[in-house]
Amino acid sequence: MTSPATVTPGPAPDPAGLLRRWRAGGQLPRQGPDAVTHVERLPARDGVSVPWPDWVPDQLRAALAARGVDRPWQHQAYAAELARAGRHVVVATGTGSGKSLAYLLPALATLLADPRATVLYLAPTKALAADQLRTVAGLGLDGVRPACYDGDTPQSERAWIRQHARFVLTNPDMLHRGILPGHNGWSQFLRRLTYVIVDECHSYRGVFGSHVAHVLRRLRRQTERYGRVRQQPGVPAARRGGVDGRTGAAGRAGVDGRAGPTFVLASATSGAPEQSAGQLTGLPVTAVTEDGAPRGAVTFALWEPPLLPGARADTEDLTPARRSALRESADLLADAVSAGVRTLAFVRSRRGAEVVATTARRALDEAVPGLGARVAAYRAGFLAEERRALERSLASGELLGMATTNALELGVDLVGLDAVLICGYPGTRASLWQQAGRAGRAGREALAVLIARDDPLDTYLVHHPEAVFGRPVEATVLDPTNPYVLGPQLCCAAAEGALTSADVELFGGAVVKQTLDELVAAGLLRRRPTGWYWTAAGRPDVDLRGEGGAPVQVVEEATGRLLGTVDPGSSHFLVHPGAVYLHQGVSYVVDDLDLADAYALVHAEEPDWSTHAREVTSLSVVSVREYRDAGPVGLFVGDVDVTSQIVSYQRRRIGSGEVLDTRPLDLPARQLRTVAVWFTASPAALAAAGIDPADVPGALHAAEHAAIGLLPLVATCDRWDIGGLSTASHADTEAPTVFVYDGHPGGAGFAERAYRAARTWLGATRDLIAACGCDTGCPSCVQSPKCGNGNNPLGKADAVRVLDVVLTNLPPTSADQPSDPG
Ligand SMILES: [Zn+2]
Ligand SMILES: [Zn+2]
Repeated sequence: MTSPATVTPGPAPDPAGLLRRWRAGGQLPRQGPDAVTHVERLPARDGVSVPWPDWVPDQLRAALAARGVDRPWQHQAYAAELARAGRHVVVATGTGSGKSLAYLLPALATLLADPRATVLYLAPTKALAADQLRTVAGLGLDGVRPACYDGDTPQSERAWIRQHARFVLTNPDMLHRGILPGHNGWSQFLRRLTYVIVDECHSYRGVFGSHVAHVLRRLRRQTERYGRVRQQPGVPAARRGGVDGRTGAAGRAGVDGRAGPTFVLASATSGAPEQSAGQLTGLPVTAVTEDGAPRGAVTFALWEPPLLPGARADTEDLTPARRSALRESADLLADAVSAGVRTLAFVRSRRGAEVVATTARRALDEAVPGLGARVAAYRAGFLAEERRALERSLASGELLGMATTNALELGVDLVGLDAVLICGYPGTRASLWQQAGRAGRAGREALAVLIARDDPLDTYLVHHPEAVFGRPVEATVLDPTNPYVLGPQLCCAAAEGALTSADVELFGGAVVKQTLDELVAAGLLRRRPTGWYWTAAGRPDVDLRGEGGAPVQVVEEATGRLLGTVDPGSSHFLVHPGAVYLHQGVSYVVDDLDLADAYALVHAEEPDWSTHAREVTSLSVVSVREYRDAGPVGLFVGDVDVTSQIVSYQRRRIGSGEVLDTRPLDLPARQLRTVAVWFTASPAALAAAGIDPADVPGALHAAEHAAIGLLPLVATCDRWDIGGLSTASHADTEAPTVFVYDGHPGGAGFAERAYRAARTWLGATRDLIAACGCDTGCPSCVQSPKCGNGNNPLGKADAVRVLDVVLTNLPPTSADQPSDPG
């Protein structure tokens, strides 16, 4: 990092003043109407601190005091007391409320009091575990012996950790692939396991969350198994009295007489946290949600970039009717930095984050040479050293601005920010609040701005502030009964030790019994009088992250330098041969993508075009779960097979967006068995509504795009979790049909939810399209950034007619909320 340039002299950082200046428009490199559609003022809150609980040892108090923690906040102490008393607890409070102290207090106090007790800490990412290791090790407590155990841990250290570490930090993947299958080597650690800490547990949602739920049940099974050994005759019944803090003063063995570890979970603010945490662990969990930490006032603005006919696309948008949210965010970031306001910009895609950082840097360097060096981009694919360097620079103030994907949501500790720019709605209100919560230094005014992308949901939200500020955050949704999760997980469990009837209850009851029968019939498990056995030679190959495969490494061919990684699900899209790939603002072109060995070779090159991958999709109906017959209209939910393939990419001139050419790609098709919701409308009804038969494909396609865009209103998912397909005549329905499907194997509950709340969902879709001020469709209504057909054909006015046909015929259900739009 070069030495910091001087910041333009100006008033002291004042986030609210910055917003006033932006609304006046004069400081931005453009003139235009006020882009702010709403300002919400969130008042400051005082903190409530309490004395240390009696059982917190002096050594721990002193270590915390040395780090500036003199007393705990009320929620920290309350959660710690519950955990200490053996109650499973989830702390679900805001960003920066110090959730880690809530689990560290009981865990560390126990490790200090009982030299044999052990603690397991789970984080969704290696980076977060490494962060926590630094925190715990930094306390310098005697005999705690913390250690990370993950894919980066050298083989030479692993045996020592298994035998001697007492505070093991890992992730669910390592628990699943390494620790549980090798439980023999961990028997001592598991026997003494007192607390299981599940940090950032809201990230365990959807299919991934459902897998993790079963991994935790497998962990419980092994701790019980080794715990039982302890109580057999001949083995010292080493409950060790009160010493381990379990059967001691707190009397933790009480509940069912068999002491398993106590689970302490930490979550971002979410709806019904005790319910989600209960689903995740399979245990009764008490929620602590009253936040006792102080925070400063926040000014929260909703921002819609102005309509600018003739404006051109950046790498993310199509034919924009509005100024791009990326350009808008880059301008605001640059202006905030030049005013000395420490600002973080959250951008949906890693590519977008690079664009925002690069654009802001360029603008700043034009104003004051060298000032651009004070802005950087940050994302999950970066190597650990790069991430640490960026975090340190931002903390010290050397960096004043950073653009990031949601990588930072996963608890990486960043403090001292004055403003947060949210470039595009992050998909859920829970994520929105988590990102906004990054703004605010102790007690000071902070600014948060949601900048709408040219997208149906974003457009809807900046014009309906009640849908942002007036509703509770979503619950974290997971479904451990998904057959694509349950079956493989039961195989994993059986491979770790034969399953017994007691385990049927542990893993979910009746549905488990049925799944076991199917696994036996398929020859994967064998039923014997003593239980269900895994009979194959190897172990089941199950990937918790669903989409499968290792991250794709992006390597600069000339130097062999590893630039970063791309997750396998998006690798076809991001690093196909010929793709332009950005890293820290430097442009690379991909020469080769090796799917078998998961790497992409690139060379540095800055062409004056961007690349856009094209995908073709087909779908067939496997079975119908449920349907509603509404005369000329039908509504269905069922299982489908989706086949998709990236077949070509376009090169488009940067600046003008002119299509230079379309080049074929030779990438394999990918299959997905999932759940879809679909509706049909009879050709006669569509004709009666005034749609020319030749225009039916465009009408359905436009309705499909907008409906996908608004599904997150009812299904607490992300539009990128969902796919769609529309056709004037589908072989399986023999009618004009619009399909919307879950983008995850086996489904994740989104299509089911859409089916239940179809009127609310499609009503909002209809209203959005009808209200959009464009002529023939734009990205705010019916155009889609991920369309495999290049947004062609699209019939905006006819889409409203299609949805009117559906809404006229489809009666409401109890899941449709009268208060909701539509
Ligand atoms: Zn429009
Ligand atoms: Zn499309």
